Amino acid sequence: MPMLFQKAVDPRMPEESPGEVRGLRCAEPGCEGILELRWSPRFGTWFYGCSRWPSCNGTLPAEVDGAPRGEPRTKELQGWRAKAHKVFDEIWKTGRNRVHRRTAYAWLRRVMVLPPDKAHISRMDVEQCKRVIEMVKEKGPGTEFWASWYRPGKRVKQHGSGR
Ligand SMILES: [Zn+2]
Repeated sequence: MPMLFQKAVDPRMPEESPGEVRGLRCAEPGCEGILELRWSPRFGTWFYGCSRWPSCNGTLPAEVDGAPRGEPRTKELQGWRAKAHKVFDEIWKTGRNRVHRRTAYAWLRRVMVLPPDKAHISRMDVEQCKRVIEMVKEKGPGTEFWASWYRPGKRVKQHGSGR
């Protein structure tokens, strides 16, 4: 089995993974597989991979102790979340705009009309991710909306430290 093989070739593989969660269903469309904790010798990390691999490539990242990071999701959704994050992060990460991260998330909650606990791209579905990308173009920095909404030094409500 793959686990034994990986163990034999990778001496860095931890002996145990206290955070492992069993029975997570693969999220890929039509897949009946279960996500199993595996060790990636290439990246030196735990991850969850579909029991139907190689016919299914479903995966989920894992924390260092083997706990799943987030909920099972399709590759498609993961791709959209990555795209939306890249576009959104430019609002506060690039030198051109330089707004505070808190301000950027306040804007995200405002344009997406979401409460603080839902205004995280890691919790959005495909349609919401597409909307984030549209909103950055239509209401982000450089737009009329932004000019009327954003004031330097504007106080915004703090919220949880999630991503
Ligand atoms: Zn699968």
